[in-house]
Amino acid sequence: AKRAGGSTFAFFEPSMDHDAREQLQLQHDLRSALDRHELELYYQPKIDGYSSQITGVEALVRWHHPTRGLMMPGVFIPIAERFGLIGALGGWVLDEACRQLQIWQNQGLRMRVSVNLTPQQLQQDDLMDRIHRAVTRHKIDRRLLTLEITESVFMQNKDAALRVLTRLAQDGITLSLDDFGTEYSSYAVLSEMPVHQLKIDRHFVMKLGTSLKAEAIVDGIIHMAHALNLRVVAEGVETEEQRDTLVRLACDELQGYLFAKPMPADRLTLWAMGDDT
Ligand code: C2E
Ligand code: CA
Ligand code: CA
Ligand code: CA
Repeated sequence: AKRAGGSTFAFFEPSMDHDAREQLQLQHDLRSALDRHELELYYQPKIDGYSSQITGVEALVRWHHPTRGLMMPGVFIPIAERFGLIGALGGWVLDEACRQLQIWQNQGLRMRVSVNLTPQQLQQDDLMDRIHRAVTRHKIDRRLLTLEITESVFMQNKDAALRVLTRLAQDGITLSLDDFGTEYSSYAVLSEMPVHQLKIDRHFVMKLGTSLKAEAIVDGIIHMAHALNLRVVAEGVETEEQRDTLVRLACDELQGYLFAKPMPADRLTLWAMGDDT
């Protein structure tokens, strides 16, 4: 039979169903993707609700697969996690995001960069090392780095998660609670965790303009967040009506296709220089 873990090759059994076979093939390809420079970070701008200026970008990883074309993180991040590749992949993302941030700083673009972390990444012993290495190597101000985590990081080992996040916050790194409102225990988490920002999930934003209930919930989230001294970012803003509602509700930052889709670094540079001045 098969053994998972450190195996660096994929092998197939006739009984294996299509999905399992596909996953094995992809994890095999993903192992070499880093060496072959097949991964790329796309960046999506975040916009200040009041001034409409760009405040920063969220780094979103893409994989240019040699035969399958552009692959989205929703497909390969779970595979990376399952086959022990998330540490290496996440380390690359951190380094690359810091490298790009340094380039933007040198070009006079003042912005922040956000990087996503899965719960599993937060549990890895070498996470702090990887962050320090990326920040030091590219000489960036760590206060410009934001890490986006989801509430599920607190579901398994809450104390361990709390320790790591506390250290990161003490280091001056900004912590953002992603997909806020989609999981339970939101309020308990908010009162205990050293987060600085929360991102209202796209599913609430989507309903703004058509659902008064959604608007009441978003209004409530923003009020609560501000009372706790947290900044609020809305993700998935697609229409002007959603934007206007969010600005009226005093949402601090906005992100979504209405402003820009995630794009390669060089395009983001042009976009930011064009829109920012
Ligand atoms: P997320 O962190 O919630 O990222 C937001 C997702 O919504 C992104 O999908 C983005 O492209 C998409 N999006 C942005 N604006 C809009 C909009 O106006 N409408 C709609 N419908 N969608 C919008 P993407 O890039 O496919 O990423 C999916 C998820 O993969 C991310 O969800 C994040 O959890 C994960 N991910 C992406 N990059 C990384 C990474 O480097 N490391 C880790 N650990 N996870 C990553
Ligand atoms: Ca995110
Ligand atoms: Ca999100
Ligand atoms: Ca999401």
